[in-house]
Amino acid sequence: MLRSIALALASLCLLAPAQAQAAQTYIHAGALLDQPGQAPRGASTLVVEDGKVLQVMDGHQAAPAGARLIDLSDQFVLPGLIDAHVHIFSDDDKVASRLEAMNRDAEDRFVIGLDNARRTLAAGFTTIRDLGSDPPAITALRDAIEKGLVEGPTIVNAGRMISISGGHGDGANGLARDYAELEREHAVNTCDGPEDCRRAVRIQVSQGAQVIKFAATGGVLSNVAGGLGRQMFDDEMKAIVETAHAFGRKATAHAHGKDGIMAALRAGVDSVEHATFTDPESLALFRQTGAYLVPTMIAPDAAVKQARAGERPPAVLAKAEEAARIAFAEHIDQFAAPGVKIAFGTDTGVSAHGDNATEFKMMVDAGMAPARAIHTATVDAADLLGLSFSLGTLEPGKSADIIAVAQSPLEDVTELERVRFVMRRGVVHKLDGARQPWPAD
Ligand SMILES: [Zn+2]
Repeated sequence: MLRSIALALASLCLLAPAQAQAAQTYIHAGALLDQPGQAPRGASTLVVEDGKVLQVMDGHQAAPAGARLIDLSDQFVLPGLIDAHVHIFSDDDKVASRLEAMNRDAEDRFVIGLDNARRTLAAGFTTIRDLGSDPPAITALRDAIEKGLVEGPTIVNAGRMISISGGHGDGANGLARDYAELEREHAVNTCDGPEDCRRAVRIQVSQGAQVIKFAATGGVLSNVAGGLGRQMFDDEMKAIVETAHAFGRKATAHAHGKDGIMAALRAGVDSVEHATFTDPESLALFRQTGAYLVPTMIAPDAAVKQARAGERPPAVLAKAEEAARIAFAEHIDQFAAPGVKIAFGTDTGVSAHGDNATEFKMMVDAGMAPARAIHTATVDAADLLGLSFSLGTLEPGKSADIIAVAQSPLEDVTELERVRFVMRRGVVHKLDGARQPWPAD
C-alpha cells in the first residue's frame, strides 16, 4: 500500500515538469531584435509555449495566471546565436601536446565535450555545427542534447573530415610506423581518387554525418609540411560533393589557398571554411555559386598566441603568423565585397569553448557593421545549416532559442561576449548572468 502511494507520488512528480513545460512563458524585453537585418523593436513581449515562440507583441503585456514571467525589461533580447564551425571535443587551447592527446580514451574526450557543450550554450550559442569529431561521440552527444539528457546547444554534425592520404585530415601524418599502420587500418576518412572518395562520404553518412566536410587544401595545424595550397583534384572534390548531395547533405570545404577555394566552389560546395586567400576572381565565384564563406577569424589568432607561448611545434608558428596576418587583411576585402554570403564560424576548439563571441569584434574590426555580424550568426548561419524554418529569427512557430545582453550589441558588439540570459527551446539555462540548475525540473 505504502509502496503504491509512493509510486503514485513519484509519477505525479514526473508529470509535474511536463505540465510546467506546457504552460506559457512571457518574456518582457527592453528591446527586441526579433528579425536581424531590420531595426530592433522597443519594449516587447515574447510569448513562449512548448519550446516555441507563440507570439511577439509590442509593449509589456501582463502574463495571465499560471504563466511564468521573465523580466528582461532592462535588457536587449535577440535570437540564440549559431556558430557554423566548432570542434566540440577539441581543447587545443589547453592541450597542444600530441602525446597527452594519445593518453586519452574516448571516454575522457567525451567528458571534455560535455563540459564544452555546457559552456557553449551558456555563452549564448544555442546551435552549433560541428565540423570534425569522432562520429559515435558526436552523434551520442547530439542525440543526448536533443532528448534533454544533457545540457548543450543543438548540434548539426559532420563526422570526420575527409582528406587525401597525407592531407590535412590524415591522422597518420608523421606518426611512427607502428602507430601510422594502426591509424591507416582504422581510418575511414582518407580517400584517394573519386571512387574512393565516394566511399568515404558514404561511410561518414552511414556513421551519422549530417553534413560532409573535406580538406580541399592543407591546414595550419596538421603535422605535415604540406603548405596551405590545394590538396585534392577536381574529380575527387566533385565526387565528394555529388555524393553528399545525393544523400541530401550539404558539403563544406576546408580551404586556405585560392586554388583550393576555386576548385571547391567549382565542385559545387555549399560553403568554404577559412577562405584565407581570396581575390576578386574567387570572390566573384562565391557570388556566382551562392556558397557561404565562413571566416573563422579567431582561430589563426589563437594559434599564434599558443605558438608564441611554446604550446605548438616551432613549424606551426610561422604558418600561423602568416595565416593570421593575411587572413585579417583578406577578410576586410571579403566583407566589403557585395553579394558574398558570410556565415558566422569560429573553429572553436582551436580557441577556448565559450569564447566564440570574440569573433564578432574581429569581424567588426575588419569592417563589418555590427548589425551584419549579428545577421551572419543568426539568419545567415540558419540558412547555411538548412534550419531557417525554425532558427535565425524570433517569430511565431520558430524555436524559442532566445538570449539577452545588457546593452545594444548594435552599438557595442562585444556585449555578445557577456550574455546574461539563455533560453533554448523554451528552457532557461542562464538568468541574470548565472547558469541555472540542470536539469531545470
Ligand atoms: Zn575546423
